[in-house]
Amino acid sequence: AKRRDRPQTVRYQAELDRRVQGRLQMVARLHEAIEREEFELHFQPQYFASGREPVGLEALVRWRHPERGLVPPGEFIPVCEDSGLIVPLGRWVLREAARHHRLLVEAGWQGLTIAVNVSAIQFRSGELEADVGALVQEFSLPPGVLELELTESIVMDDPEAAIAVLERLRQFGVMLSIDDFGTGYSSMAYLHRLPVDKLKIDRSFIADVEEDSHNAAICESVLSLARSFGLKVIAEGVETRAQMDWLRQRGCDEVQGFLLARPMPFADVLRHLGHPPR
Ligand code: C2E
Ligand code: CA
Ligand code: CA
Ligand code: CA
Repeated sequence: AKRRDRPQTVRYQAELDRRVQGRLQMVARLHEAIEREEFELHFQPQYFASGREPVGLEALVRWRHPERGLVPPGEFIPVCEDSGLIVPLGRWVLREAARHHRLLVEAGWQGLTIAVNVSAIQFRSGELEADVGALVQEFSLPPGVLELELTESIVMDDPEAAIAVLERLRQFGVMLSIDDFGTGYSSMAYLHRLPVDKLKIDRSFIADVEEDSHNAAICESVLSLARSFGLKVIAEGVETRAQMDWLRQRGCDEVQGFLLARPMPFADVLRHLGHPPR
């Protein structure tokens, strides 16, 4: 067996080298992409549970790769997180989000929120607070406009420090929501101390919610938890009318998903929203 092991080990090593190489190349390429601003934001509308009036937009980043076309975030965000590039990329995303808010206001949409995803690595970099503070000033963002979607993991390694940062972010008028709620290390134990405004139910729990009793139980407990803590709830990944009706009947505040709108470039957002109120 030993003799046959060796070539396999060699092959395995070669495969590993190739992967490491690929990863390093991608990091170098992403570095350039950030400098050249090859990224763009798409926006997915979020609606009140009635499904009629928009609440805001979630900004979702894409990489406009010169050869590969539009690359989804799942393919490069993890690499950016591992390499620390998420800090400059995240800063760019925040800025673009603020700039688009200004465009929305110019188009007559004053009241819409803009939600931005913040990675745990970016949160821990210690630069988020200063970046957000500077943006709020520069773009004169009114309170309640900028919303940060955070994952449960940001709280876990140093809850006291995280809570202090969250409190200061809120003083800038930033709204905070917990993304993918229920999928992470449970921050249930901390929830009563977390200065957040909203819980976002992950789309894995919305799938078949009207007939899957397990998912229904999870959604119902998130809704009742939110009610007792005075938090809003948004459901993501709403794809059917049945899911939306189920959620609305149980007091879910907001919905987001392909049923209502897919993520789209900003120009399409304005077309999609139609005429602004009044
Ligand atoms: P997320 O924050 O959970 O975002 C929701 C994802 O679900 C988006 O994928 C969106 O396109 C997709 N989605 C929305 N509605 C539906 C639906 O009805 N059905 C289905 N099947 N999917 C739906 P996307 O844009 O590929 O983003 C994937 C993830 O990448 C996001 O998950 C988020 O974690 C991350 N991400 C995106 N943009 C950023 C960013 O600017 N910064 C950071 N740190 N992460 C980002
Ligand atoms: Ca999100
Ligand atoms: Ca997420
Ligand atoms: Ca999610």
